Amino acid sequence: MKHAIPDKPVPTEPELIRCEICLTEIPGSVASNAEGPDYVHHFCGLDCLARWRACTKTATPSAC
Ligand SMILES: [Zn+2]
Repeated sequence: MKHAIPDKPVPTEPELIRCEICLTEIPGSVASNAEGPDYVHHFCGLDCLARWRACTKTATPSAC
């Protein structure tokens, strides 16, 4: 018995990531990134990035 080998490459799904502020799913290629103390944060756009930056400057992150 022969193995069926697909002759067409399987299309790869664009990696979807979730904006940490508004929770919108966006392709990783269009995300705005910010390097945090532990890992890289992802945002749908500069607006959410700015909001995250403002939040991290406050002493009460729960205000986000
Ligand atoms: Zn967002």
